[in-house]
Amino acid sequence: MKRISVIIAAFSAFSSIVSAQITDPKATEIWEPQVRVVTPGEGTKPPSDAIVLFDGNNFSEWQSAKDSSKVTWTLNGDGSATVLPGGGDIVTKKAFGDCQLHVEFREPSVVKGESQGRGNSGIFLQGRYEVQVLDCYQNRTYSNGQTGSIYKQSIPLVNACRKPGEWQAYDILFTAPRFNNDDILVAPGHITVLHNGIVVQLNTEIKGTTEYIGLPKNIAHGKSGIKLQDHGDLVSYRNIWIREL
Ligand code: MG
Repeated sequence: MKRISVIIAAFSAFSSIVSAQITDPKATEIWEPQVRVVTPGEGTKPPSDAIVLFDGNNFSEWQSAKDSSKVTWTLNGDGSATVLPGGGDIVTKKAFGDCQLHVEFREPSVVKGESQGRGNSGIFLQGRYEVQVLDCYQNRTYSNGQTGSIYKQSIPLVNACRKPGEWQAYDILFTAPRFNNDDILVAPGHITVLHNGIVVQLNTEIKGTTEYIGLPKNIAHGKSGIKLQDHGDLVSYRNIWIREL
């Protein structure tokens, strides 16, 4: 105990000497490295350093998640695309780790189905971790499966859904999980989600894969594509861009 007190006293004395020596405000200014310039986009348009994943013209950045074949979803010719029911999930050709992802989506204006059957799709970070896309405007479902949930892991803080037929946005900040050389999870992933500019997930810990049945799994993996889900509903997407962090 005495020894700890001596150490604490010595440390306090050292700190006060160091503080006492700094009298010039410039001494605590850091000038290097210089911060890179990124030009913001107009409105929700991509910033200058973003990778545009979908601008409405084609699926050149995407492939079938099942067999890497060509995407068959419908290009609407107005900057958007719509899920082709039965066309299967699609995934980016490029793999990503930590990222900032912007996705706009629109629920079908013809409302049908209820609970998980209404306008279901999903955005899977690293092809594994689903941010639920669902029409939860006046549509009740289980709370950990509604719009803005990390599917069956984390209930969104609020329900920020716009009406079906209106464009909505997700802005997602994702820190990928880390696995060591023995394939053991050493740091879980984290995710922050803004739904229509409103925080619905704040630095939420990812427990593992977002399973429909059963518990999350943590099988080691590296960078992986962003996957969009075909859940059989006519959900549309537009203006998808990503910044690697
Ligand atoms: Mg889904």
